[in-house]
Amino acid sequence: MATQKMLKFVTVGKEMPEKRDAASRAQDFHEIYREYADRKAAEQASRCSQCGVPYCQSHCPLHNNIPDWLKMTAEGRLQEAYEISQATNTFPEICGRICPQDRLCEGNCVIEQSGHGTVTIGAVEKYITDTAWEEGWVKPIRPHVERPESVGIIGAGPGGLAAADMLRRQGVQVTVYDRYDRAGGLLTYGIPGFKLEKDVVERRNAQLADGGVNFVLNCNVGEDISFDAIRGRHDAVLIATGVYKARDIEAPGVGAKGIVKALDYLTVSNRKGFGDDVPEFESGELNAAGKRVVVIGGGDTAMDCVRTAIRQGALSVKCLYRRDRANMPGSQREVANAEEEGVEFVWLSAPKGFTGGTEVEGVIVQKMRLGPADATGRQTPEVIEGADYVEPADLVIQALGFEPEDLPTLWGVPELKVTRWGTIKADFRTHATSLPGVYAAGDIVRGASLVVWAIRDGREAAEAILSYLAQTGAVAAE
Ligand SMILES: Cc1cc2nc3c(=O)[nH]c(=O)nc-3n(C[C@H](O)[C@H](O)[C@H](O)COP(=O)(O)OP(=O)(O)OC[C@H]3O[C@@H](n4cnc5c(N)ncnc54)[C@H](O)[C@@H]3O)c2cc1C
Ligand code: SF4
Repeated sequence: MATQKMLKFVTVGKEMPEKRDAASRAQDFHEIYREYADRKAAEQASRCSQCGVPYCQSHCPLHNNIPDWLKMTAEGRLQEAYEISQATNTFPEICGRICPQDRLCEGNCVIEQSGHGTVTIGAVEKYITDTAWEEGWVKPIRPHVERPESVGIIGAGPGGLAAADMLRRQGVQVTVYDRYDRAGGLLTYGIPGFKLEKDVVERRNAQLADGGVNFVLNCNVGEDISFDAIRGRHDAVLIATGVYKARDIEAPGVGAKGIVKALDYLTVSNRKGFGDDVPEFESGELNAAGKRVVVIGGGDTAMDCVRTAIRQGALSVKCLYRRDRANMPGSQREVANAEEEGVEFVWLSAPKGFTGGTEVEGVIVQKMRLGPADATGRQTPEVIEGADYVEPADLVIQALGFEPEDLPTLWGVPELKVTRWGTIKADFRTHATSLPGVYAAGDIVRGASLVVWAIRDGREAAEAILSYLAQTGAVAAE
């Protein structure tokens, strides 16, 4: 029989350490974390083989000079790494957090391609800029000269804000109009805080305001002020309003209580995170706690909904998608994260209707199979007859994507040309629209896309606006 040892902890010749306050414990934790993060970033950065064919760079929409900032990080030259990184990206710490890197830079890393696991480019990018903020390397916006020209930007999302930053650094007078009460667009009210901490976005908003960008919030253009009035006030205008018209399910029972839109659900959750008073959350209407939740859709918005529902304490969370895992539009990394957190994916399933009366009780699910490919080469889902079943649900979240609002009608400007999808027609390079002095950037041109593309568009549009202002020499009367 093994001898049992009595272990007794005693302090010999030593005084018991003083009970330490929370602030000093937090400081210690911070230092330990920093040391770990420093080591981890350098370790990852040094895995870059400096391959000479930087597919990572060519697959980053901003063409970030990734190999160079990885090299600097590996050598501990972090301030230089930051300078290189911020030269091409207005919000590197945001992209580092929420770009779908598996589809962009990291998915094309040569080391990943050779089966050894990608360099974690996004995490290093985030680390570099977070360090820059901590160390005070992020410079305030202080233009060398103040210029008389003014630009009005409609929409304070990443597209509008990237343009505001570039224009303000050149001394242009910039006013950003937004219908929300906070700037940031979907960075603030769409993307959940567990993916993108809101203080990271607020820090950038504050930097722009401190640099002289004038924000006019709670201002819905087309309602509180006309588009024409904005054109009259400014020498040039950038439209960066994003896409917000949710695609609806057309099925019997869809109007029942408990069937909600993804962005309404996520906005309420984000508002709650800000500490706002949110009656729809308190009443349970847009709160998943204790409920059987079914999310319909297979894109990134659906992934954000399922993961938010889990965090709110849902009883169960299921995600219905009409194609299979390999053919879903959302990031595979996000699916893996969601599965780890307890979300169940029900592939090849689509809603046929809803049970219950005024309140939803379940989703009638029809099973699908993938048929022949359509003109785009994508297999079309087909219904398997007789395989329907009812999935019980207390909260159903529709996450089927977004379309643009009809801006020419809403704003009374039929001359503003749009595509057949309703997105604004803008020059591919200059982002100029059909109206002189009016530019457009981000989702309102591309359709629902990514933050990194909105940043690129905003930066390019700002360059084009600067050329336009130089050519016309126009100054609007304020
Ligand atoms: C739930 C969700 C999660 C996402 N997650 C990711 C992600 O993880 N990674 C990623 O890269 N992308 C993600 N995206 C996509 C990304 O958020 C968008 O592509 C990006 O925000 C587009 O930027 P934008 O500046 O064009 O528009 P937006 O960010 O939509 O900003 C547009 C702004 O214009 C304002 N506006 C609109 N109309 C008016 C008007 N008439 N008057 C005044 N203001 C107006 C809006 O209030 C808003 O603030 C996500 C999208 C959603 C919906
Ligand atoms: S901006 Fe996005 S795609 Fe480009 S390097 Fe950073 S994380 Fe990768």
